[in-house]
Amino acid sequence: MFNIPTATPSRVFDHIEAQIGNTPLLGFRRITAHLPANVEVYAKAEWANPGGSVKDRAAAYIVRQAEQSGVLTPDKTLIDSTSGNTGIAYAMLGAARGFRVRLYVPENASPERIAILRAYGAELVLTPAEDGSDGAILAVREEVARHPDRYYYADQYNNPANWQAHYHSTGVEIWQQTQGRVTHFVAGLGTSGTLMGTGRRLRDFNPAVQIVAAQPDAPFHGIEGWKHMPTAIKPGIYDSHFADDTISVNTETAYATARQLARQEGYLVGISAAAAFAGALRVAEAHAAANKPAVIVTLFPDNAYKYLSETFWRD
Ligand code: PMP
Repeated sequence: MFNIPTATPSRVFDHIEAQIGNTPLLGFRRITAHLPANVEVYAKAEWANPGGSVKDRAAAYIVRQAEQSGVLTPDKTLIDSTSGNTGIAYAMLGAARGFRVRLYVPENASPERIAILRAYGAELVLTPAEDGSDGAILAVREEVARHPDRYYYADQYNNPANWQAHYHSTGVEIWQQTQGRVTHFVAGLGTSGTLMGTGRRLRDFNPAVQIVAAQPDAPFHGIEGWKHMPTAIKPGIYDSHFADDTISVNTETAYATARQLARQEGYLVGISAAAAFAGALRVAEAHAAANKPAVIVTLFPDNAYKYLSETFWRD
């Protein structure tokens, strides 16, 4: 049946930060049709955040803590390195709350992301593509060391407010949206904030919840937003012993899954979302093969709008 409900008509927001979080939990039909009814797969639609990605959560929490503790004041510039989504969130929040934002972005970040950052009025420093996201991190550290008084260094890789945002929002939402039935949480690793914060909260609710980390299978990969932890600078907030299991996803699988999600479900998701879904599907298929029930939740960090210039969509 086709049922188009009127979405909650009482949702009126006073300001942009109020729109962050409480994202929908999506179900699947065709791409999961081979699974038995007792193996369920869901994904959080993080593109519903006003900056278009999961990183609104972490950025808003980082900014709020910094403002409350007095380290981010209107005369300071928020500075950080970002492959894009956190930067978009900072730029959006800086515009709305009245502080300047200076971002170090690898020059090979998608042109759509760079255009969005400029549109919000952020100041950009493009770092060499071959140095990757670690090159952007090192460049920010140098600039902060040169002019410590000018900046609030948000440092998303080492700032506990990053994972705490997910502890206080994403984890609670997943627990409530599954009525406490979630058995697995699968998330890709970038800063690891999503996995660490959501995972900690879900384990507080139920220590049996399995936390599965997904990462690219190689240091050079096309899954924007993900890090290959064995070869990257380890984020301070990341605990490599935290996850119960780790899954590697290769870039071709991510691309193929992105096409399938678009063409079989109507979900036009970003590459890391597709990769996370591929990981969740692997967990689901293993449970189906072993005749075990599972309620598997993953997270779609963003949608495909920033990656439409990628050629894999044409296949
Ligand atoms: N996917 C995308 C598209 C992202 O921008 C990010 C953030 N870098 C992630 C996944 C990983 O999220 P986290 O930083 O919370 O590990």
